[in-house]
Amino acid sequence: MPSGLSPLASPPTRYQLRLAASLSALLVLALLVTAPYARQPAASTEALLPAYAAAVLVVELLTAALLMALFYVQRSRAMLLLAVGYLLSGVMAVPWALTFPGVFDALMLDGALQGTASIAAIRRLSFPLFVIAYAVLSDREFPSGSAPRIILGSIASVLAVVALATWFIVSHDDALPQFMVDAHNVSGLWRFVPAAAVALYGVGLIALGLRRRSMLDIWLMVVLFTLLIEILLISYISGGIRLSVGWWAGRFYGLTSASLVLLVLLSEATTVHARLARSVLAERRARQNRLTAMEALSASIAHEVNQPLASMVTNASAGLRWLERDQPHIDEAKAAFGRIVTEGHHASKVVTGIRTMFLKGAQERVPLDLNHLIDAVLTQCNDEARLGRISVSTALEADLPPVIGNPVQLRQVVTNLVDNAVDAMRGTAEPRFLRVTSQRHEFGEVLVAIADSGAGLAGVDKDRIFEPFFTTKPDGMGMGLMFCQSTIEAHGGRLWAVDDVPRGAIFRFTLPAPATAPRSSEPIR
Ligand code: ADP
Repeated sequence: MPSGLSPLASPPTRYQLRLAASLSALLVLALLVTAPYARQPAASTEALLPAYAAAVLVVELLTAALLMALFYVQRSRAMLLLAVGYLLSGVMAVPWALTFPGVFDALMLDGALQGTASIAAIRRLSFPLFVIAYAVLSDREFPSGSAPRIILGSIASVLAVVALATWFIVSHDDALPQFMVDAHNVSGLWRFVPAAAVALYGVGLIALGLRRRSMLDIWLMVVLFTLLIEILLISYISGGIRLSVGWWAGRFYGLTSASLVLLVLLSEATTVHARLARSVLAERRARQNRLTAMEALSASIAHEVNQPLASMVTNASAGLRWLERDQPHIDEAKAAFGRIVTEGHHASKVVTGIRTMFLKGAQERVPLDLNHLIDAVLTQCNDEARLGRISVSTALEADLPPVIGNPVQLRQVVTNLVDNAVDAMRGTAEPRFLRVTSQRHEFGEVLVAIADSGAGLAGVDKDRIFEPFFTTKPDGMGMGLMFCQSTIEAHGGRLWAVDDVPRGAIFRFTLPAPATAPRSSEPIR
């Protein structure tokens, strides 16, 4: 799966930015509401600690698993480091809870005073370091080796580090920094941990803010901001008193926001699957349609080319007969040869039309800007529109994501649709207008609409207009819409026509726009 399919890797939408900002504002509000009660002790709440630690473990392990899955797809070292950061923090929550004074008395792990604080310090300081590493590293750095092996290796290393650290912390209490004076109150030395954590969160927020490439970056900023609020509550506003109202509130807000972030990540992962399933279905449908269209096309081509050939033979025989007479009828013969030329041109037009469809390089796909393409086509038919007294207008969405497609074919599609619109307005009452719009559509697609005030589709069979050689024009070929539809479907999109009100027709097509497709280096004109 290309990374472009992942909404997590795509730039954040305005809605997501607003959601992240609202969540951050809510956290500040929660902090202000809690601050006056922060130092009040919440006695005998040790019993809640295992449940809290279990929730942290689940949320952080799930987030790590999701990020590992992203690493599996994208192979970016930055993503791997972030996943490892989450994994380490989640697994470390286990010894943190096990060594917490008064929680798991029976295990005899909590006899020592400094263990829990040391583990908390490791968790606090290591996580932002991983986030900073993620923000600083480029997405394009790929570790060598197979992804499953790297993932398994990382998990094993994290588990080994946590086991070793826990063993050391539990058995060497004297060697640990003296963070606690008793089971509930921190010493002066502890001050350095939250201060360092605040500094690291700040650096992380700046690094992510500068990077701000993807939606994931924005949500990581929310995570760091939450951790900042959490540490302000836990270490400063509550005076560092364990199990106080502020201490619990900080943890509760942190957990709620971490769960929300996880929810967002999960919902985005579901979107990826939905999009994938849709594109597989669309591809299958397109293949089927192409096959059916091919059969119809071959039959029609045979018919279309046979007709002028038969007429050419008849006219050639007639011409010869006019010439073979005792007194050759030159004018009649000339007229017959003239008809041969016309029919010859007609047959050649059929062949040219087919060649455009299968032109060399039809499979070549590049990222391209549809707005540029539309502008280029409209500039090209400017003269024709002016002659037809047609007012041409556009409403092209700025920042339209690029689509991956064949520039020649897609340009031909837009040209055909615009030409048809101009044709449809020939001889109709003024005012005549042609309006082309482009916009983002659902499921990360781009929607283009070409509307005209022409004769409309009321008089024609809407199902038949896409069939090969269906035409209502005296000099029409009836190949244009068939080509447009098969091209758009081969690109994973859809083309359809509707009546416009009060008159005219609108031809609309969609094309998938992988969100992180690189922009074309030069606009396609
Ligand atoms: P051609 O342009 O050679 O006729 P097409 O496949 O492009 O072939 O179009 C098929 C038919 O669809 C046209 O002959 C016309 O009847 C109808 N049609 C296409 N575009 C329009 C339009 N914008 N308004 C009204 N009818 C249209």
